[in-house]
Amino acid sequence: MIDVAVAGGGPAGSAVAALLARDHGVMVFEDHPRIGLPEQCAGLLTDRAIEASGVSPDVLSTLYGAEVLLPGGGRVEVRSERPKARAVDRSDLDSKMADRAMAAGAEYRLSEKVRSFSVGSSVGISTSAGDHSARLLIGADGHGSVVAPAVGCVPGERIRGVQADVAVRMEDQGMFRMRMGSRYAPGFFTWEIPCGDFTRVGLCTSWSAGPPYQYLKRLLSDLGYGDRVIRMHSGRIPMHPSGPISSDRVMLIGDAASQVKPVSGGGILPSMVAAPILADVAHSALASDDLSARRLSEYDRRWDDAMGRDLSKAYRLRRALLRMDDRDLDRAGRYASRDDVRAVLDGIDLDTPADVMKALLRHPGMAASGAWTLLRCLI
Ligand SMILES: Cc1cc2nc3c(=O)[nH]c(=O)nc-3n(C[C@H](O)[C@H](O)[C@H](O)COP(=O)(O)OP(=O)(O)OC[C@H]3O[C@@H](n4cnc5c(N)ncnc54)[C@H](O)[C@@H]3O)c2cc1C
Repeated sequence: MIDVAVAGGGPAGSAVAALLARDHGVMVFEDHPRIGLPEQCAGLLTDRAIEASGVSPDVLSTLYGAEVLLPGGGRVEVRSERPKARAVDRSDLDSKMADRAMAAGAEYRLSEKVRSFSVGSSVGISTSAGDHSARLLIGADGHGSVVAPAVGCVPGERIRGVQADVAVRMEDQGMFRMRMGSRYAPGFFTWEIPCGDFTRVGLCTSWSAGPPYQYLKRLLSDLGYGDRVIRMHSGRIPMHPSGPISSDRVMLIGDAASQVKPVSGGGILPSMVAAPILADVAHSALASDDLSARRLSEYDRRWDDAMGRDLSKAYRLRRALLRMDDRDLDRAGRYASRDDVRAVLDGIDLDTPADVMKALLRHPGMAASGAWTLLRCLI
């Protein structure tokens, strides 16, 4: 019997596999034949997220700030002396994380999809290649998780994203561009990220806006990039979960647990925060041979303390953003482009925006402006 079966060889699955393989037998089932492909990510990570991943992915560019374009033509620029984020090669990140887990002793079964499972005195797992049994199953199988529904964890919202790498070199390799408003990204924002000789152009939209491809097509056409597309990716982002993230012999992590920053859609850092907590709880539960829901619920509590509650608060800000129409965004943008406000915005840390938020909320005129909501769109 396997000690720990992990469904999904993405960053979340590989992070826990690397930690648990030191002391336990770990088998990772990955649906696709190659780790990291297809790529469904803009690859924008803070140094904190990169460090927490435990590997050094190829960095395509270092970003010092963002230019935000408002629907009415307004523009806000946030720039810092220090790097705010890096655009990384996401498939390289995934494969380096899997290599690290394998070096720690985890076994990877590629092209083997977890189809279903049942829990009794062990977990019976049925995959596309056969049947297995494990003491513990970790659902790290992304936004379409087959494991999460059985645990009872459901995202309150899913958004859709699509992006294209275009053969265009952005002049300023240190800044990325975002566009807000209903023309290109209802309910979210667009991004143009410099990646050396190509630019990653993408966007997410609210589910109710329909398939996002129509908006990307419009954006690429307006930018004159329609015939420069090298490759395209699309994906979904779950957020605002309800329900537990563990049950008898089962634990969830990453997109499967909707552990995503609701305003940016960033899921790598939350997974990296969750992984050591999950591994710690799983390790002691395996050691004491108590894999009951009660024992594993320590993970739920510790995750909430570490980040879960902050993500819930951030989701309230997303709801506020959704109530803003194009005119509200323009109004907020005008306020945010004031020199005194920009000076505060320039200091933003993308992983801990609350500090700059508090400073802004104390800023004269801020409360009335609605600009705080715009600020959160940058995070
Ligand atoms: C367009 C877009 C842009 C994004 N940009 C960013 C960004 O810039 N920064 C950021 O931090 N986050 C970003 N995200 C979010 C980020 O990609 C996810 O949060 C992150 O990939 C979650 O990691 P994960 O390991 O939980 O899931 P995944 O990366 O989805 O990995 C899950 C793995 O499980 C496998 N799998 C699925 N089902 C099964 C099964 N039944 N059996 C076996 N294997 C299975 C999949 O093949 C996959 O390899 C973006 C998302 C999208 C859609």
